[in-house]
Amino acid sequence: MDLSQSSVLVTGGGSGLGRVLAADFAAAGARVHICGRRREPLDAMVTANPLITGHILDVTDEGATTSLFAEIGPQQVVIANAGIAESAPFHRTERDMWDRIIGVNLTGCFLTLRAGLRALRDSGNSVSGGGRLIAISSIMGLAGYRYASAYSASKHGVNGMVAALAAEIEGSGITANALCPGYLEGEMTDRTIATIMQKTGKSRAAAVAVLAATSPAGRLIRPEEVSAAALELCGPGSDGINGRAIEINGET
Ligand code: NAD
Repeated sequence: MDLSQSSVLVTGGGSGLGRVLAADFAAAGARVHICGRRREPLDAMVTANPLITGHILDVTDEGATTSLFAEIGPQQVVIANAGIAESAPFHRTERDMWDRIIGVNLTGCFLTLRAGLRALRDSGNSVSGGGRLIAISSIMGLAGYRYASAYSASKHGVNGMVAALAAEIEGSGITANALCPGYLEGEMTDRTIATIMQKTGKSRAAAVAVLAATSPAGRLIRPEEVSAAALELCGPGSDGINGRAIEINGET
């Protein structure tokens, strides 16, 4: 896929991993649409990079997701990145927290990828180089982690959905894959660190060490490592990578 001739959508593209994905795809020459719920972070990205366009979108809003694709047209690369994380022991996981996490992480991902696939199909797959549907999942979609039942369920759901989608579109020129990072350096992990410190009285360094221990390399993962994997899924020879849940959690 020639990214300099491609258009890319990144949900939750105004901050965290989404910001890095948007900047790296733009650096590869792609036109990048980013969307999110808050105007200021989107505007900051757009001001900094002429290849980036910002759109207000809540990924749980089905009508708005459809309208966005009607506005921007088919995207060669659709990255369902928007997500939220909250933690609680299973017996204290309330229904509204469950619904919130499943709503954004699983249903939001479904709505984004479905709208992206529909737009590609409606265009008769006429966009050059096929299409790439990429879900940002998590290592918590591959195994269970304590105090994260809703989040883990949402990401297992994402991986299952992507595997089924990939089987359906096999051979179409469009692929679907999930990227499963470990704990990333950034704001979401900072919030988790703050929660650990508050609940356990641990120092910041000790709280970071708890999270870093989930990586075989004993460290947090840099968003750029996830972005590199997303670019690889669009690179030469990537046509055959379909239906994978790719773990990105440091070297073993
Ligand atoms: P983040 O909180 O920095 O960014 C998440 C983005 O999603 C934000 O821009 C936020 O505004 C947006 N978002 C949330 N709800 C939305 C909604 N309803 N509609 C539109 N946008 C919405 O977190 P991040 O670390 O950049 O997370 C990005 C993705 O990576 C998420 O799917 C997350 O689950 C996943 N992930 C994160 C980590 C981590 O340790 N931070 C690890 C593995 C996977």
